[in-house]
Amino acid sequence: MSKKIAVLTSGGDAPGMNACVRAVVRSGIKSGCDMFVVYDGYKGLVEGKIEQVDRNFVSDIINRGGTILRSARLPAFKEDAIQEMAIKQLHDFGIDSLIVIGGDGTYRGARELAHKGINTVGVPGTIDNDIASTEYTIGFDTCCNTICECVDKLRDTTTSHQRCTFIEVMGNKCGDLALYSGIAEGAEMIITPDDPISDENVFAKLKSLKGGKKKHSLVIVSEKVYPNIFEFVKKVTEQTGIETRAEILGHLQRGGSPTSKDRIEATRFGIEAVKAILDGESSICLGLKNGKIVRYKIDDALQMQRKANHELLDAIKLVNR
Ligand code: ATP
Repeated sequence: MSKKIAVLTSGGDAPGMNACVRAVVRSGIKSGCDMFVVYDGYKGLVEGKIEQVDRNFVSDIINRGGTILRSARLPAFKEDAIQEMAIKQLHDFGIDSLIVIGGDGTYRGARELAHKGINTVGVPGTIDNDIASTEYTIGFDTCCNTICECVDKLRDTTTSHQRCTFIEVMGNKCGDLALYSGIAEGAEMIITPDDPISDENVFAKLKSLKGGKKKHSLVIVSEKVYPNIFEFVKKVTEQTGIETRAEILGHLQRGGSPTSKDRIEATRFGIEAVKAILDGESSICLGLKNGKIVRYKIDDALQMQRKANHELLDAIKLVNR
């Protein structure tokens, strides 16, 4: 009997999720499996929004941002009774295996389903790059590029008016989006949770820039560093005498056509997820380690602590702060 595998996307959407769904569906079909998709993440799973698909279903999506399977958050999925509803739906469709594309929360849901007899594989999909068990998450590269496009535009007006602009970017509690986009933009300062800086040192640094030839500056800040970035830049203006503005890039960071890197990594992950199921794995997630795809038990992966890239943080201080 052929294996019946379903795929869903969950948590925050990320560019490249579609490329991963495509790889899962196509490699599954090619390996002789019946392939299903679930709409709206775990919510749709509980509601039975499931359909069998053929290879044409995933045509022309490799270049599309967002997720054609849509995403949703269902906090109640932590409850046993709700998980049982999902299991029943999977049984009704004869599905034995589930591939989930999302973040840590999505992995936790997959682990619960595995405890209840469904083979599950988690694939890292989030713009934040905040999953400890992988050095790369699908969507991160596209998001960095999107941030750079926006900051390039902000740079024009910042230099014309000789201002300072603080740009708040996403990342949840992970500083990678700020760090990588800050490097790519040559930002005067990069402020992340991984490398805190006191308010006094921020003021001093900006004043020293103003004292020199540099009359404008770009500062990239991770979200959640300052409770209210607009209040903070008022303080910067007061303390430094430099006209300072703040921009929060917000959800536009999640959108856009995936870069070639994200399409390629997503495709690799999708193929490997199906392979893992066919190898009989369950309750595992995939990660990238030194560029190679590795498998971890979800329990082990969720115990891992994310390590900030201190080597890069320190190195970049020779050029930026
Ligand atoms: P992102 O990093 O983009 O936020 P995520 O996968 O971490 O992605 P969450 O909202 O944390 O996003 O989780 C996605 C979904 O996974 C939740 O809406 C919920 O349905 C399910 N989930 C999260 N935590 C658990 C848990 N402890 N047990 C069962 N299901 C969970």
